Amino acid sequence: MKIVSTIQEVRECVNAWKKEGKTVGFVPTMGYLHEGHMSLIDAARENDKVVVSIFVNPMQFGPNEDLASYPRDLEHDAKMCEAHKVDLIFHPTSEEMYGDSFYSYVDMNVLTEDLCGLTRPVHFRGVCTVVTKLFNIVMPDKAYFGQKDAQQLAIIRRMVKDLNMPLQIVGCPIVREPDGLAKSSRNTYLSEEEHRAALVLSRSVFLARDMIGRGERDCKAVLAAMTAEIEKEPLARIDYVKAVDFENIQPVTQIKGNVLIAIAVYIGKTRLIDNLVTDIIE
Ligand code: AMP
Repeated sequence: MKIVSTIQEVRECVNAWKKEGKTVGFVPTMGYLHEGHMSLIDAARENDKVVVSIFVNPMQFGPNEDLASYPRDLEHDAKMCEAHKVDLIFHPTSEEMYGDSFYSYVDMNVLTEDLCGLTRPVHFRGVCTVVTKLFNIVMPDKAYFGQKDAQQLAIIRRMVKDLNMPLQIVGCPIVREPDGLAKSSRNTYLSEEEHRAALVLSRSVFLARDMIGRGERDCKAVLAAMTAEIEKEPLARIDYVKAVDFENIQPVTQIKGNVLIAIAVYIGKTRLIDNLVTDIIE
């Protein structure tokens, strides 16, 4: 496994593989890797070569967000990647990615306006821009994204379609702790008491899954039950509990087809997300 920090080194490596006719799978991350990231890497093994980027992208953080405190541990990340047979880690500096001036952005309407876009107004512009840059650098055949960040997955799929980017996007299921909490690098911010309180997120998602499994199709009823469940937890403060079409992130009232039921909840100072995507054909 190689670890490189320049765009040129990635290009040389990938170009050599492409000359040999190898396919390339790509997993973009912000590091502090866990089993959720590993599931994407394992899925990417369907390609001949696997590239992982580790870059805490300043452009996708708002001014009052956790850019400075975001956890970082390259040594641990490299060990995990090695164990999962990653071929190349790209770990650039901000200077390598953005130089000392930068004026070009990839932005999107509609899909970015609700859910996390409401409280994080610059976030998805930062995500679309860095992912486009990374796609242009790595030139993968397929890129792997977690359904944990479901709005992001919908946005990336749309960006690739709208802008005719020549690669395939693969969505991968949410990986959870044994107690149900969706794995996240930000879980490290939680105290023991907050971790216990944070289980209210997965509990409310499982409650929704069970209601829908029993035949409930009214979004209002499902969202009300989820809200009531979360409000039982004194350490939890709801940002949103919503149901939207998974493709265009527009509100829906009935559960039919691929509906994204998404929540964002503060546990103390830590903002956590979780979701469920339905697949109801009736
Ligand atoms: P991040 O490092 O948080 O930017 O995440 C990098 C990628 O890993 C994104 O595509 C995430 O959706 C995905 N990911 C993060 N946590 C999980 C998880 N618990 N299950 C599946 N994928 C995840």
